[in-house]
Amino acid sequence: MPKKPIVDWDLCEGCGTCQELCPEVFEVRDDEKAYIIGPDKCNTCDCQEAADTCPTQAITFEG
Ligand code: SF4
Repeated sequence: MPKKPIVDWDLCEGCGTCQELCPEVFEVRDDEKAYIIGPDKCNTCDCQEAADTCPTQAITFEG
């Protein structure tokens, strides 16, 4: 089972880094928050890298 990411919108500042790294998983919308568009797509990228690179540590994983 791939890990399912969660974004804490209180922390997310919409920088777009997660979307650049994992465009099938994250989408930053006009409200400058990252949305999870592909919760099961962490196998297409490195979601852990996105979590590690997020400047506000807004990305965590379920389970
Ligand atoms: S990398 Fe972090 S702060 Fe930047 S858009 Fe993604 S969740 Fe938000």
